Amino acid sequence: MSSFRANSSIRGILKVLLCVLLASALCFTSGCRLLSKDNLAALFSRTENTEPRDQTEENEPDETEPDETGSGTDGKDKSGGDQRAVYTMDLTLDTVAHSIGGSVTVDVFNYSDDEWDSLCFRDYPSLFTADNDYDLTVDGKISDILNIKDEDNDRDLKMERSTEDVSVVYIEMKDAIKPGETRRISFDFVSYVPLLEDRYGYTNDMYNLSNFYPVLAVYEEGDWVAHPYFVNGECFYSLVSDYFVTFHTPSDMTVACSGEETMAEEGTWSVEALSVRDISAVIGKDLKVVTDEADGVQVNCYYTEDKRWAEIAVKAGVTAIEAFDEAFGPYPYPEIDIIQTYLFAGGMEYPSIVLIYKDFESSKDPDATLSTVVAHEIAHQWFYSLVGDDQYDEAWLDESFASYAEYVYMETYLDEDEIEGRVDYVQDIMGGDSFTNMGNTLRLNRPYDDFGDDDSYVYTAYYYGKVFLYRLREAMGKEDFTLMMKAYVKEFSNEVATTEDFVDYVHTYAGDNEDVDKLLQVFLPGVE
Ligand SMILES: [Zn+2]
Repeated sequence: MSSFRANSSIRGILKVLLCVLLASALCFTSGCRLLSKDNLAALFSRTENTEPRDQTEENEPDETEPDETGSGTDGKDKSGGDQRAVYTMDLTLDTVAHSIGGSVTVDVFNYSDDEWDSLCFRDYPSLFTADNDYDLTVDGKISDILNIKDEDNDRDLKMERSTEDVSVVYIEMKDAIKPGETRRISFDFVSYVPLLEDRYGYTNDMYNLSNFYPVLAVYEEGDWVAHPYFVNGECFYSLVSDYFVTFHTPSDMTVACSGEETMAEEGTWSVEALSVRDISAVIGKDLKVVTDEADGVQVNCYYTEDKRWAEIAVKAGVTAIEAFDEAFGPYPYPEIDIIQTYLFAGGMEYPSIVLIYKDFESSKDPDATLSTVVAHEIAHQWFYSLVGDDQYDEAWLDESFASYAEYVYMETYLDEDEIEGRVDYVQDIMGGDSFTNMGNTLRLNRPYDDFGDDDSYVYTAYYYGKVFLYRLREAMGKEDFTLMMKAYVKEFSNEVATTEDFVDYVHTYAGDNEDVDKLLQVFLPGVE
């Protein structure tokens, strides 16, 4: 998600703050500092030596063979291949009932050491009812999940919703799934899409279908992870899976989806999305598309009327993919879909698809804001999508990285001093009274419920984090930092990384470096 908030009528102060912060940052000039604190400025002061660290051949990290300390041996071996879940879905969008649903089979692989006598799925659409806890006026209904079956044992199964959270659905397995076993289960579902400008919601003839189907939760340390939903960020956590989906829609609608979509015939669309943590689809009337290519990746931008918007977005998408290929390693999917749609956030990321707010005219520099939001969401293709993380527990592992990537993108058209000025600007704000009064610390690796409010969460995950990574790059030297990032991304591709995993890589590639150690102590205290 982008920290830019599009509709200030929904969330008042937070959005105003964020809009001001982002708009200010985008139009920053070097003489434009608002606030500074000497004590924090000292912590962030530029290192004397910005040259790449002097390394002997013996200890120079190899990009393709990271040190053993960075191999992510925390027990989270959830790689894909034969172990991944496979979803086959046949779905119909009903634009009269405003619902999406159909039949699903899931081949579930038990990657744990425990027998699974129940499965946990997340049914987020059921949260979008009139009595939701999210300060949103919506008209959705609790989803129906019916006809649940263990296909391999030909047994009907029952489900139960958590009494605390209706989105947490447990399916009781009459025959437990043994470690290493794959079991096919099937069910029908229908989710009701609320009238809402959100990642899940419809407005006019545009349906944003994200987190719209029951998705398997992650089993970790003997239990299913079932974080609560929240609006101003992401709480999603799922493992890489393969999806084969058919969408039936009214004949005048277009489907843009994670993976590759093809129209089999009018009103019938086939989607194949491989190695993705989940899928999102936007289905709309009168969608036009402009396309381009970046390093062999097809870049599609879907829009309704504003072709100029689309051309800016596509250009940003191409530039971002090329820059991030250099900085983090190759873009992992055959295509990227950029969708101009209704959102209350500036943008929202899903695998190989990004939803972008349709109109940034309230921003001081709409074109620059649009481009930066596109770049931010595309950076999530590496951080969240390719390298997974528990977004509730360690949001910084994707939000801070995607926010830092905004600087990488800007480096394609701004000189170093200007970027440095922008980093200084955010850093100065971080030391200002507005932050200290909010009682924040600078520790990045905190779960959502550890933040006092959404402001603290957003500032930490987005702004503290991107300054940390930028300063880390300065302290390590760009060459070593880039080697580290590429090795980290490669190692945790299609898997799940933790803060400890990342810090392992920092130690391996930075070696003895006082400036790096100081940054780690400030931003990730206690992480060894
Ligand atoms: Zn984001």
